[in-house]
Amino acid sequence: MKKGMALLIILITVVAILCILKNNKKEVVKEEVETNPYQEVKFYKKENLERYKKYSISNPDLNSKDIVLRVNMNLDNSFYTNTKEVKEFNLLMLVNKYNYLAKDFEVPNLVKVEEYAKEGMYLEEKAKDAFIKMANDIKKEGYNLRAISTYRTYDYQSNLYNNYAKCDGVNNADTYSARPGFSEHHTGLAIDVDNITKIYTDFEDTDEFTWMQENAYKYGFILRYPKDKENITGYIYEPWHYRYVGLSVAKYIHENNLTFEEYYYEFLDNKLERS
Ligand SMILES: [Zn+2]
Repeated sequence: MKKGMALLIILITVVAILCILKNNKKEVVKEEVETNPYQEVKFYKKENLERYKKYSISNPDLNSKDIVLRVNMNLDNSFYTNTKEVKEFNLLMLVNKYNYLAKDFEVPNLVKVEEYAKEGMYLEEKAKDAFIKMANDIKKEGYNLRAISTYRTYDYQSNLYNNYAKCDGVNNADTYSARPGFSEHHTGLAIDVDNITKIYTDFEDTDEFTWMQENAYKYGFILRYPKDKENITGYIYEPWHYRYVGLSVAKYIHENNLTFEEYYYEFLDNKLERS
């Protein structure tokens, strides 16, 4: 009887120890997963891990994917800090408040926009052809589209930004005007439009804008600075500013209601040549 009791106690002890060991192991595994939920995300960057963790603390509502994407976008840094130079021209290049072009950056195949534009407008050739096609088609429906600002040189942007900053202060100017080198207009792929009769800042109130919302993507253009996305793009809503990205990308961005930044960091980051 005594021997039986002793055996039972030993058995219970062994089972208890095994249980404790098993649970400990589970906890260790669980802890590893908990400390790094980001490594499963596409474009996870090991070197950004500490930044993901820090950003998730200040943004508890974002899921792991958004944390990775936004830190990769550099949104955990203030605009115009931790910037990178974009060296190669590409139809899908990203120029924004973190990614800039050097003063002497040149757009290949820059051509004059001969129709549907103010005097002296230039665009990259593919963007120009797509714009002319779009302007022709909208005209057939009785509307007017005109390019009022297209390619801008570094010096032009520099004058423009400095004037805004002088009149309106740097903080205000930064919400609607890019610092030289950081303007998408420097890529030759961006266009500001109006409908000739109204000032461009009222473009949202025109039939042409309604048409653009439904059709611009069919020509490869996206509304570059959408409403309520200022925290990602760094710019106020600009109903007049369009960016050429090509047909398939424009369609995807349109259908999924994305900013170009979101598309770029989900599909293109590290695939395009960058410095
Ligand atoms: Zn613009």
